[in-house]
Amino acid sequence: MILLSEVFGPTIQGEGAGIGEPTVFVRTAGCDFRCAWCDTLHAVDKSHRGDWYERSADAVLAEIEQLSGGQPLLVTISGGNPATQDLTRLIQLGQEKGYRFAVETQGSVAAPWFGLLDMMTLSPKPPSSKMRFSRDRFENSLLRAGDKPDVSLKIVIADEDDLDWAGELKARYPQLPLFLQVCNTQLNGDPDQSKIAADMRWLVDQVMARQWYDVKVLPQLHVYLWGNALGV
Ligand code: SF4
Repeated sequence: MILLSEVFGPTIQGEGAGIGEPTVFVRTAGCDFRCAWCDTLHAVDKSHRGDWYERSADAVLAEIEQLSGGQPLLVTISGGNPATQDLTRLIQLGQEKGYRFAVETQGSVAAPWFGLLDMMTLSPKPPSSKMRFSRDRFENSLLRAGDKPDVSLKIVIADEDDLDWAGELKARYPQLPLFLQVCNTQLNGDPDQSKIAADMRWLVDQVMARQWYDVKVLPQLHVYLWGNALGV
């Protein structure tokens, strides 16, 4: 059984390597982290447990098929941390029907099914998250992924310390495409779009000043379009 927070879509992926691509989201519930600026606390904080629910892999795929009208597309598994659950059967069943699967995870747990994926976004958490980075765990996740999925690195940036830290990872893993994402610190109510734009301009300036011409700088497109609304 898979413990879920929500299944929704189709909509577009709002961040990272798949930005703009139509997708159905499967958000698993539960996370081994508690980042200072987590924007999905409804899938992390146990006070929301009453809204979480269990489904079999077959039932989750049936819901994906219903949402997508049976038309295969990219399924994005997010969380929480989806790596804490066994998603092997869901991915295998879905791929048999032509669906592709992407996951987003921080790289703290190396799930055995990573090697089945089509895309994987590793999103290690920078110092501003107040979480501790384990290089061993991160590299185990890379090993588990192997050669099949397209793996990319996405790092949320809140300040210059985060940028320095991202620079260390950039140097250590030059083979991984790197996406830097503006941190959304306005988690209650409607975010001030002018602040998001200002943060984005600051990040662009910082990246250009460091001459990081091989990284991509992105906002969270869904926050621009829908604010902090859930299920879009
Ligand atoms: S890893 Fe992601 S889901 Fe978990 S607490 Fe951090 S931001 Fe939230």
